[in-house]
Amino acid sequence: GEPLLSIRDLRTVFHTDDGLVRAVDGVSFDVGRGETVCIVGESGSGKTVTGESITRLLRTPPGEIAGGEIVFDGRDLTTLDDETLRSLRGDRIAHVFQNPQGALNPVYTVGWQIVEAIQLHEDVTREAARERAVDLLDRVGIPEATRRFEDYPHEFSGGMKQRVAIAMALATNPDLLIADEPTTALDVTIQNQILSLLDDLQTEFDMSVLLITHDLGVVAEVADRVVVMYAGKVMERGGVFDVFERPSHPYTRALLDCLPGRGDGAASIGGRLPSPIDPPAGCRFHPRCEYAVDACREGEQPPDCAVDGDDDHVVSCVHYEPGGDPSVVRDRGSP
Ligand code: SF4
Repeated sequence: GEPLLSIRDLRTVFHTDDGLVRAVDGVSFDVGRGETVCIVGESGSGKTVTGESITRLLRTPPGEIAGGEIVFDGRDLTTLDDETLRSLRGDRIAHVFQNPQGALNPVYTVGWQIVEAIQLHEDVTREAARERAVDLLDRVGIPEATRRFEDYPHEFSGGMKQRVAIAMALATNPDLLIADEPTTALDVTIQNQILSLLDDLQTEFDMSVLLITHDLGVVAEVADRVVVMYAGKVMERGGVFDVFERPSHPYTRALLDCLPGRGDGAASIGGRLPSPIDPPAGCRFHPRCEYAVDACREGEQPPDCAVDGDDDHVVSCVHYEPGGDPSVVRDRGSP
């Protein structure tokens, strides 16, 4: 059926003193119902801004959507007024961030805050909301939820705080949860617990998850599909199995080589992200790409090309364009 979220040619810009930053520059992908899609990329890739554009959370410096469509359940969110969009946010679309502190008010007990979130969006009695809140805390794995209901945010550890923030996000039974680096600030063992929690909740709450991360290990853990971003553009996207088994874009391959146990493990990608104000012509990755040819350095980013005729797995690279030779990229080096 129809995907829950369909982003087409999204362009988000920031007006800065140094000039116009095209943070997201023609990004397209879908999130199906009940699916977990990961956007992966380095900082500066535009992955966070993509997530923030969906509910227009764009923070400083002043950003705006300059083009494209964000169709959520049949409605183009880019055309909604701020008020309608605000009611959608926190109701049908919820966010979880790297720092759970931001989602929680230090002055109130966590239980009180979840009850408020429920009552803000639903006409239920205080008692019913309270029961739901305790149940939510229990479902996100807070031990002794009834007692902890009365605790303040500072009384929870980092991992437990993130669980509470997730309970807040789920208070309204959202259709889409956008989680931006939700585990990055946590210890490794806690990271894994939070990831498997998100995985469980995604099924339990029958929601779609858009997970934004710099960590391909996280992607392997939870994603159904993956979108690889670089310098505001999508380099490759496809089913997680296909992308990990047949990484086709040189950037994806380089990212995978940096994963422990793949390629030479400790690899890192040479060079730096291009300037977001004055990005290179042609393929944005060309200054760092070992497979670059003249055609990569002129014109626009190459179009999305199907990998092995599979329209669900596409890559933006000249070697995959009609008449090109993908084996140039594929047959050299690891993995
Ligand atoms: Fe490398 Fe050229 Fe492909 Fe870009 S288009 S990834 S520079 S080979």
